[in-house]
Amino acid sequence: MLFGAPGSGKGTQSARLIDEYGLYHISTGELLRQHIKNGTELGKVADGYISKGQLIPDDLMIRILDETLDKEASGKNGVVFDGFPRTIPQADALKQLLRRRGYDLSAVVGLEVPEDELVTRMLQRGKETGRADDNIETIKNRLKVYHDQTAPLREYYIKEGKYLPVNGHGVVDEIFGNIAKGLREMAGIDSRK
Ligand code: AMP
Repeated sequence: MLFGAPGSGKGTQSARLIDEYGLYHISTGELLRQHIKNGTELGKVADGYISKGQLIPDDLMIRILDETLDKEASGKNGVVFDGFPRTIPQADALKQLLRRRGYDLSAVVGLEVPEDELVTRMLQRGKETGRADDNIETIKNRLKVYHDQTAPLREYYIKEGKYLPVNGHGVVDEIFGNIAKGLREMAGIDSRK
C-alpha cells in the first residue's frame, strides 16, 4: 500500500512499483475520476464529494473496492493500493476483504512530505493536468480531511508492524530507491527486474 497525504507522490511511485514488481494498480481516486469522466451514476455521486475535497462515504467506497478486487486483481502477482484506505473503517474492511481471499498486506509505504511542499505540488499538478480538485480552496479541505481522518492510519499500521516510512521529499528515482530498499529489508520483497 502507498500511504500519504494528497500530493505526496503516491501516483508517481505507484507507477514505478507496478512496473518494477509486476503489480496491479488500484487507485480509488483514479477509478472515481474515470466514473466522473464517463458520466456514470457513481461518477455523479462521487463528483459531489470530490469537488468539495470530502471523502466518499465508507460503505460505498468499501463496496467499490470489493468489486474491483474481484474484477481486476485476481490472478495478479499482487496489488498496489493507492488512496485506499483513507479511514479506520476502510482499513478494517480491507483486512477482511484480503483475508477472505487468502491475501495479506505486505507493507504500508508512508510517503512523508512537508505540508508546504504538498500544496506547491498540487497547485502545479492542477496547472499541468487541469485536475479539478487541485485548486487552493479544495486543497485546504483535502489536507484537513487527511489530518482528521486519514493520518491516524499511520499509527494503526505502525502498531501492526507494517509501516515503512519513506522521505517523499526529493528526486523521484531516489525516493523509489528508498522504497525498494525498505521493501526488501522489511518484507523480503524484491523487484522482478
Ligand atoms: P486521490 O486521487 O487519491 O487524491 O483521490 C481524489 C478524491 O477521491 C479524494 O479527495 C476523495 O474525495 C476521493 N477518494 C479517493 N479515494 C477515496 C477513499 N479511499 N475514500 C473516500 N474517498 C476517496
